[in-house]
Amino acid sequence: MKILIIDDSFSFAKLVKAYLEKHLIFVETSIISSFKELKEKNINEYELFLCDFLLLDAENGEHIKYLVDKDKKVLVITAYEKEFIKFKYSEKVIDCLFKDEYKMKDYLIRLVNRIYKNRNLQILLVDDSVVFRKVGRKFLEMVNFNVIEANNGHEALEILKAYKIDLVVTDLEMPIMDGEKLVIAIREKYSINELPILIMSGKEKEKLIRSLKLGANDFINKNFRKEELLIRIHNMMEMYEHLRKIENQIIIEPLTKVYNRFYLENELEKLFKYYSQKSVAMLDIDFFKKVNDTYGHQTGDEVLKNFANTIKSVVRKSDIIIRYGGEEFLIFMPNTTKYEAMVVVYKIKKTLKVCCGVVNYTFSAGIADEGDTLVEMIKLADKRLYIAKEKRNLIIVK
Ligand code: GH3
Ligand code: MG
Ligand code: MG
Ligand code: MG
Repeated sequence: MKILIIDDSFSFAKLVKAYLEKHLIFVETSIISSFKELKEKNINEYELFLCDFLLLDAENGEHIKYLVDKDKKVLVITAYEKEFIKFKYSEKVIDCLFKDEYKMKDYLIRLVNRIYKNRNLQILLVDDSVVFRKVGRKFLEMVNFNVIEANNGHEALEILKAYKIDLVVTDLEMPIMDGEKLVIAIREKYSINELPILIMSGKEKEKLIRSLKLGANDFINKNFRKEELLIRIHNMMEMYEHLRKIENQIIIEPLTKVYNRFYLENELEKLFKYYSQKSVAMLDIDFFKKVNDTYGHQTGDEVLKNFANTIKSVVRKSDIIIRYGGEEFLIFMPNTTKYEAMVVVYKIKKTLKVCCGVVNYTFSAGIADEGDTLVEMIKLADKRLYIAKEKRNLIIVK
């Protein structure tokens, strides 16, 4: 993400540049110190502008006007807080940070980080007021959120069925289906840990508190200052991201990015009971120790990734891949007989390519669709794998 810093204090600009680049891997910054230089720049190259409020050749913030008139994203960093609030264009910038606040630099990092990440997030904005939706959309888009609008709760529920939504921001008072009913309906499907809801209303406080008890995560009075909305939404998104990350760390194996044994033991049993027809395939790379011994562990790791990616590229979306042991992978296939599973495993075999330009490897597999419990089925597949290992590069189903 390319950022242009415009500040006539070179030492301050350098400090900001160093801080941003130290903490955010995706950031690339340039520094200029005057309005004149700004006018000579191709500003379309930059996604974000960090502007000092007053420059020697722009004593009334003309450079900020120049940028916001072209719909550019501007963050103002200034020592003149009071003056800036009175500034005609203060509402058109994303936010204003104050130079003397030491802790502000942490906020700057969080804010830039959000602006970068928000592009992957979708907000559902629910309000019967077209004017309010327009204002809200404009502001949310300024920090890169994708916005979908709904006119009432009913429309919102329809959108939730069709799109992946990361946050619902809703009014309370609406025709057809109001905000309270919407919160109740959402919570029947998504827990408070799955989909956050922010209530936005001019209603009396009792109503707002009530909506929290019904399952909203937070509320904000409709005559909010936009920086208040921004920080509340950003706090919420940060929390949800942490939660998702922790959840993933528990179940995803970091090297090959497939599920781990924890997932197998805690979730797969449920799926097993859910499907009446299913198969399990156990795949084990042949002579993998030799790969490590000949080419080193790093190449061994590459082979494991290559193997996992090949499996991913072949199986169905509903199939589940688990790293069962070092070079052993389990595939759970719902609605599949063992003979159909065999076809899939053959396809994996056919798809395998030489890894790292030198390692030509094979695997053996055991497949089963018999057994009343997951453990029983895995044991059978494992037994067949063991038989396949006598010759290697074999697939056994009975
Ligand atoms: P076979 O054909 O009988 O399956 O022989 P094998 O060498 O593939 O099987 P064995 O079980 O003897 O060895 C598995 C090896 O996998 C030993 C272990 O060091 C290696 N291994 C396990 N996990 C990892 C890993 O994450 N990275 C790498 N590079 N090697 C691993
Ligand atoms: Mg309304
Ligand atoms: Mg092996
Ligand atoms: Mg093994």
